[in-house]
Amino acid sequence: MNPQSPGSLRLFKLFGVQVYVHWSWFVALVILYQMSGLAGSLGWFLAGYLSLFGIVLLHEFGHAMACRSVGGEARSIVLWPLGGIAFVKPPPRPGALLWSIAAGPLVNVVLVPVTFVIWIAAEGLLDPDIWPGLVTYIRVITTINLGLLIFNIMPVYPLDGGQMLHAILWFFMGRARSLHIAATIGVVLGAIVGVLALMAGDWWMVMIAIFIGMQAWNGMKIAKVLAMYER
Ligand SMILES: [Zn+2]
Repeated sequence: MNPQSPGSLRLFKLFGVQVYVHWSWFVALVILYQMSGLAGSLGWFLAGYLSLFGIVLLHEFGHAMACRSVGGEARSIVLWPLGGIAFVKPPPRPGALLWSIAAGPLVNVVLVPVTFVIWIAAEGLLDPDIWPGLVTYIRVITTINLGLLIFNIMPVYPLDGGQMLHAILWFFMGRARSLHIAATIGVVLGAIVGVLALMAGDWWMVMIAIFIGMQAWNGMKIAKVLAMYER
């Protein structure tokens, strides 16, 4: 168990970073199995699932290594289906925070052309009648990487995009105010998306919205404490 994230299992340690997996990852296994289009073949589905695991892990190691490069601490990573959480503690400077957060999505940016080239090659070279699972698998991996990138860079705190917004605003208006603005945007958008998802009956999206809203609410409370110290 990880004291920072109850409900997660210890997996392995790499470059001094302890990797955990959250139980919700196993719930996502079932949901993704139904959504992926790989449901016809268990082998290809498991390959896709492990690849998703690998992509998320690379993204989180991007955060961890970038944080260390600016003199910060990165001790653990918890993998969960929305992109994982790297528990990073960059030094309290906007530039250090911006680099520690941006490095995660940058890993996905690097993977975009790689996966697209492999996909185009597979579509052109492989006979889909002979290799149906492989072509679908490559298409799913390409989509997952792009989807994770777009999801993570949305400027909604606590997603990477929201934290990058916090870091950028920090340069101009200080730590507390910038966090307050980024977190408020997170709370408002989380509430809007939550209500829309509830109306649409999309429970997966409702869960995401609740998570974002709660974390952003926490961010607003932290901003209040920081503001007291800044005075
Ligand atoms: Zn990230």
